[in-house]
Amino acid sequence: METSPSARVLSRRFIAGNRLEDGLAVVRELRGRGILTALDPLGENVSTEAEARAAAGNAMATLRGAIGEAAGAVLSIKLTQFGLDFSQELTLENVLPLVREAGAAGSRVEVDMESTAYTERTLAILGTMAGAGPVRGVIQAYLYRTAGDIERLNGLRVPVRLCKGAYNEPADLAMQRKADVDENYKRMATALLEKGTYPAFATHDPAMIEHVLAQRPAKDQLEFQMLYGIRRDLQERLLGEGWRVRLYVPYGEAWYPYFMRRLAERPANVWFVAKGLLR
Ligand SMILES: Cc1cc2nc3c(=O)[nH]c(=O)nc-3n(C[C@H](O)[C@H](O)[C@H](O)COP(=O)(O)OP(=O)(O)OC[C@H]3O[C@@H](n4cnc5c(N)ncnc54)[C@H](O)[C@@H]3O)c2cc1C
Repeated sequence: METSPSARVLSRRFIAGNRLEDGLAVVRELRGRGILTALDPLGENVSTEAEARAAAGNAMATLRGAIGEAAGAVLSIKLTQFGLDFSQELTLENVLPLVREAGAAGSRVEVDMESTAYTERTLAILGTMAGAGPVRGVIQAYLYRTAGDIERLNGLRVPVRLCKGAYNEPADLAMQRKADVDENYKRMATALLEKGTYPAFATHDPAMIEHVLAQRPAKDQLEFQMLYGIRRDLQERLLGEGWRVRLYVPYGEAWYPYFMRRLAERPANVWFVAKGLLR
């Protein structure tokens, strides 16, 4: 399904395309508009070690391509694609060369945060990656453990991308009410501005952005991050005011789980997709 023509119609709002060239074309276009990028070769849990190694090769090509297109571009990855379900050793073997390559080119590897089954392992691997080169970790504001994790990454001087969180999590681990998540996002944003290292605020929520701006940060102290295809008006507004804006640009054939999370976040997207299919 993921490569069929109707699938392409379904996914094109949020995904740059199936091939690396499609992702690079978007990086180029965004660079022209003054927007930074985090290029993501889509993919999550793999079922064999060979697949994990192949993903590492693909990620290296993605990183090199992105840097070639735009000096400030970075790579964003999910550790389950590189063998997190198998072992820490295999995962590190696959991701450390990426961090070293990024460091040599003045770029960075950003490590997405997946479901709570992986939080602890992801943070542990991130700590080792940070010793090899420039990385950014992701913290999800809906988790009760978040404040401690931010302190842990601040202690390692690892920059944090703060998002609300995109997975279905149980009530003993994650806040279930939007108002609680929003409050915690604001609390964590303040903590990152006070004690963090070059934080990134990943959100399309104007209330979260206003909260960050109300702390009167310096323009070079942080960046705002948004997802490709979402709230272009807000991107333009922040750019116009002189803030750094980075878009997360996913490409690849394994778009289905990513796409489903975007639909779940906003029921109106289901109508958007249905209309696209009927046209
Ligand atoms: C750059 C970036 C990286 C991310 N990385 C991770 C990660 O590693 N791990 C993780 O768990 N989550 C990640 N997320 C997803 C995040 O956790 C949220 O699920 C998602 O961003 C929606 O939350 P919000 O802050 O935009 O606020 P919300 O309160 O959900 O939305 C605020 C407004 O944003 C717009 N909006 C939000 N989502 C959509 C959508 N899907 N389609 C259209 N409009 C929308 C709407 O106008 C909405 O009213 C990332 C998000 C961004 C922007």
